Amino acid sequence: MSLPELPKFAEAVMERLERAGYEAYAVGGCVRDPLLGLAPNDWDVTTDARPERVAELFSEPPFRAIPTGMAHGTVTVLSSGEPVEVTTYRIDGEYTDCRRPDSVSFTSSLEADLARRDFTINAMAYSPKRGLIDPFGGRDDLSARLIRCVGEPERRFSEDALRILRAVRFASVLTFGTEPGFELETKTANAALELCGLLSRISRERVSAELVKLLHGGHAPEVIRAYGTILSEVMPIGDCADTIGRLNEMGAETPLLLAAALFGRQDAREILRELRSDRKTIRRVGEILSRPGAKDYPGAKLLCAEVGADIARDIETLAAARGDIPAECAGFVGEILRRGECISLKQLRIDGEGLLSLGVEPGRIGGALNRLLREVIEGNLQNERSSLADYAAKHLL
Ligand code: ATP
Ligand code: MG
Repeated sequence: MSLPELPKFAEAVMERLERAGYEAYAVGGCVRDPLLGLAPNDWDVTTDARPERVAELFSEPPFRAIPTGMAHGTVTVLSSGEPVEVTTYRIDGEYTDCRRPDSVSFTSSLEADLARRDFTINAMAYSPKRGLIDPFGGRDDLSARLIRCVGEPERRFSEDALRILRAVRFASVLTFGTEPGFELETKTANAALELCGLLSRISRERVSAELVKLLHGGHAPEVIRAYGTILSEVMPIGDCADTIGRLNEMGAETPLLLAAALFGRQDAREILRELRSDRKTIRRVGEILSRPGAKDYPGAKLLCAEVGADIARDIETLAAARGDIPAECAGFVGEILRRGECISLKQLRIDGEGLLSLGVEPGRIGGALNRLLREVIEGNLQNERSSLADYAAKHLL
């Protein structure tokens, strides 16, 4: 396990703080992930400088300070344009709503700041100057692949129930492929199962952000099997573990994973609306779930004509991943596109004008074009102007 190599822009932030006489450490995911050989998603710095001081120190180029959460001690520093979240050492006050501390207070103790963090693997701090600070055994838990609460799991999950979902999300995402995944340490797992009802109090936005990350994880199938009880508190997720695993192997995007999780649910859109998914995602999931996969080539062409090639491809991918269609059907849409098959009115070798000139009544043009397209897709008619015109003259006048 190697210590994190900080990118220049993050190091510059820490150096600036240190030179002004403060302590500064990288903390959380950006220490954990490099130790696991992963690239961090974002850079968090923790410091004993107060937020107003942080804002002051980074007010000039190449820095810029954005006061994103001063009350909670957070300033987003843009360092050469790259964001670094700088948060003052903090102790969280009482939690009365399972979500957010009623108050926070700043402290000069790094250890106190690390103690408020959720899991031991997230409660490590590192600075090139001061080394790795790991008061809760995070590094050992990383080696043992354990997700363990800092402190008493019941208390930590009751304070902020989102941590329950974060625990299973980390189990899903922290390793890849054939590498063994992370597990929840026994007491942490028991508390998570016991208290998962509290998840109903958490904002749907935060819940769904965690869910989506979880579905993309390399170990999503195991986590779905092991912690279905927890997940079903936030989404009526079906028997989809294997399907999700296959989709992730293919690099599937979020809508496909959500469609797999909600397969067979007539109310999939409502569920996602309640989870505050964005409109585009909701529409896409609805479209993917609107039709079954095609079991033959003409059926795949028809599907493309009806929903468009992109959605038809997703429908096909999901049906194949679920085992609803034979494996050989999984490439139909690709083949249709490669061969440039006629699947839209645009590609039909006759248009409205053409039909008008043949004598089709103006009010029947749309219907006539669709009929021709259907005949071409079903293979009853060549997509050539003369055949199309003959057919129209015979059947559509
Ligand atoms: P990733 O960025 O990959 O999602 P992360 O661990 O960095 O993972 P962030 O949400 O970026 O997660 O939070 C940064 C750090 O803040 C965490 O590592 C953890 O120490 C702390 N943290 C975040 N959310 C919570 C929470 N709900 N309760 C306690 N500590 C938290
Ligand atoms: Mg992070």
